[in-house]
Amino acid sequence: AVATQRSTREWQQADSKHFLHPFTDFGSLNKKGSRIITKAEGIYIWDSEGHKILDAMSGLWCVNVGYGQQSLIDAATRQMKELPFYNAFFQTATPPSIELAELLAQVSPPGFEHVFFTGSGSEGNDTIVRMVRRYWDILGQPERHVIISRKNGYHGSTMAGASLGGMSYMHAQGGLPIPGIVHIDQPYWYENGRDMSRADFGKVAAGWLEAKILEVGPEKVAAFIGEPVQGAGGVIVPPETYWPEIQRICDQYGILLVSDEVICGFGRTGHWFGSQTMGSKPDLMTFAKGVTSGYIPLGGVMVGDRVAKVLIEQGGDFNHGFTYSGHPVAAAVAVANIKLIQQLRLVEHVRDNVGPYLAEQFESLRDHPLVGDVDHCGMMAGLLLVKDKAKGTPFPSELEVGMVCRGHCFGNGLIMRAVGDRMIIAPPLVMSRAQIDELMALVRKCLDLTL
Ligand code: PLP
Repeated sequence: AVATQRSTREWQQADSKHFLHPFTDFGSLNKKGSRIITKAEGIYIWDSEGHKILDAMSGLWCVNVGYGQQSLIDAATRQMKELPFYNAFFQTATPPSIELAELLAQVSPPGFEHVFFTGSGSEGNDTIVRMVRRYWDILGQPERHVIISRKNGYHGSTMAGASLGGMSYMHAQGGLPIPGIVHIDQPYWYENGRDMSRADFGKVAAGWLEAKILEVGPEKVAAFIGEPVQGAGGVIVPPETYWPEIQRICDQYGILLVSDEVICGFGRTGHWFGSQTMGSKPDLMTFAKGVTSGYIPLGGVMVGDRVAKVLIEQGGDFNHGFTYSGHPVAAAVAVANIKLIQQLRLVEHVRDNVGPYLAEQFESLRDHPLVGDVDHCGMMAGLLLVKDKAKGTPFPSELEVGMVCRGHCFGNGLIMRAVGDRMIIAPPLVMSRAQIDELMALVRKCLDLTL
């Protein structure tokens, strides 16, 4: 309480003196100063100047149950008192981590009985790289080590996570990607396939996977990884034909299918996992964020029976893990979070109620002179800002129209993110229809201001 009594200016000065922020131009932030966020409740956050802001990004795609949920707070407090830490190395475990493993198996699709815990989504995807290569080693096929992923996909910021990701601006720094990871184009219809139907384009885009498998050599490919819906890439919802075709190709060549559910998991797309919405049956699923609604860091990998059986029955030691794998406080919060999602029926709420409503509202934005296209899936949505709707002409990049729009949002009590010329949201799943109306009024206002 004492700490928040500093003035905004004092916070900003201390911030710029000591704190190097992630994905930030340190120098320019020092000049501008951070916006200091001091509290939150429901779907709103407040800054140190007392402004109330509708957080349509759920923090960073994570606060699925909204802010201020007492059962999560109580779970953390109870567990901190009882046993704040013990590890899962050396044949030990704690009750919350076991309970969470059990609960995750219950909410996952059939065939997922095992989990490997990490501290974050990036660590989850690092684990994927080691686990799929280990799987093929055990099966006597060590040459199968290449992992295929997608340009403009996001899988985290560790060396392996950023290598799996296809963000060119990340690859440009730090010697990425690491060996054995190759990329195919993303299934972004507006950019890559507008000359054909979405359904046709979905199959064409999935075909790029087959072409890459053949180029690399099928006997060298270990796995394919993708987000069911690309999040950080700009909420790019693939055509319905895409994932079933990806599944068919993976099956045909026997390669493992990995679904990165870090954003799409825990109800965001209207099922527990995005792969269920998209109609694929992955062998492995990475998760993080929504598993604790971001109240505390936790991530992991759901390991399907095909891989688990080999690791357990033939693998011996798996030389991998983290101090915080199965952290008891994080696990206790995750258990409370999953139980709350069940109790509030949030997955059904997204699937049957607010998801379709948000879709309807975003579709209605097509009449706006700046909006070239809209995408939506459950409680994720995006729109593309264009200079000329009829021709689909983009704005000159130096205008940074997304950042201009984002600035208007920021100034008008709305957190909406800009990815290039795409404006995106992923609001808390607990939102009501009335709150979506409030959100949409703000979105329209900010689009009008951007004109
Ligand atoms: N995978 C996806 C799909 C993500 O969106 C993110 C983070 O945004 C990550 C992985 C990395 O997770 P973390 O930031 O917890 O390491």
